[in-house]
Amino acid sequence: MKTIALRIDVDTYRGTGRGVPALCRILAARGVKGTFYFSVGPDNMGRHLWRLLKPSFLWKMLRTDAAGLYGPEIILMGTAWPGPKIGKRFGSVIRAVKEAGHEIGFHAWDHHKAQARLMAMTTGAMVQEIEQGLAVLTGITGELPATSAAPGWRANDRLLEIKSNFPFRYNSDCRGNHPFYPVVNGKKLEQLQIPVTLPTYDEALGRDGVSDRNYNDFQISLLKPDALNVLTIHAEAEGGRCSAMFEEYLDRVLKLGYRVVPLGVIAEEVRDSAPEGRIELCGFPGREGELAVQKEL
Ligand SMILES: [Zn+2]
Repeated sequence: MKTIALRIDVDTYRGTGRGVPALCRILAARGVKGTFYFSVGPDNMGRHLWRLLKPSFLWKMLRTDAAGLYGPEIILMGTAWPGPKIGKRFGSVIRAVKEAGHEIGFHAWDHHKAQARLMAMTTGAMVQEIEQGLAVLTGITGELPATSAAPGWRANDRLLEIKSNFPFRYNSDCRGNHPFYPVVNGKKLEQLQIPVTLPTYDEALGRDGVSDRNYNDFQISLLKPDALNVLTIHAEAEGGRCSAMFEEYLDRVLKLGYRVVPLGVIAEEVRDSAPEGRIELCGFPGREGELAVQKEL
């Protein structure tokens, strides 16, 4: 069956407050459900932008117009004061997503910190970062999320092992081709991995002649009718400046006969058949630094 598993990453205060409700309206108008991964602690993404002001990142910012995507306050948020706490302010937004029938996943406590430093943390600090965020998210929705996704796909074997002690049924921590059970230190983990198979907007834009004009053509050309496609959109982008483009994308893929579903639907379908695999940190087109990529055993 032609399938797109839809994942919505929510990284920032603005993305939660403005992007998420906009995306909920877009999805509801088409009867589509997805998996929302929430960040619930302080929004320090501004710090992230400053830290990454290297020539290559500057180029990427210009390519994707980060200030336009994330709003002008993102540049300042977290630079001089602790960013506002997303979960505290937008609990009702997160609950509304659940009530609309979407799947709720855990993304981060502090997205910026996790993306920049999670893998370098001690095991205790890593556990605390997850516990803190999970407690807030669970408090908001009233139930433990079934799934988690490492910010920026920054994941290693140690993180997967730590996550396996949390009650997630499956995770989406890497880029790759098909769902698999990670093998860490010779041991198969019970939490399925559902890798993201398609590029994100900010990765694709400005590469190989991709612009807003042909972005949807490019994304659709990458779809595999006979395999699982996993797409990540961002509340900040597709729920903001790129929302009209995303609506057109949805209309086109639905017309092409794709079903668009939350990742949890796939997790159930492949639970018994998914093979084993592993992850490795690699450079990735359109991204700063290394991220987790699926490899065969
Ligand atoms: Zn993210």
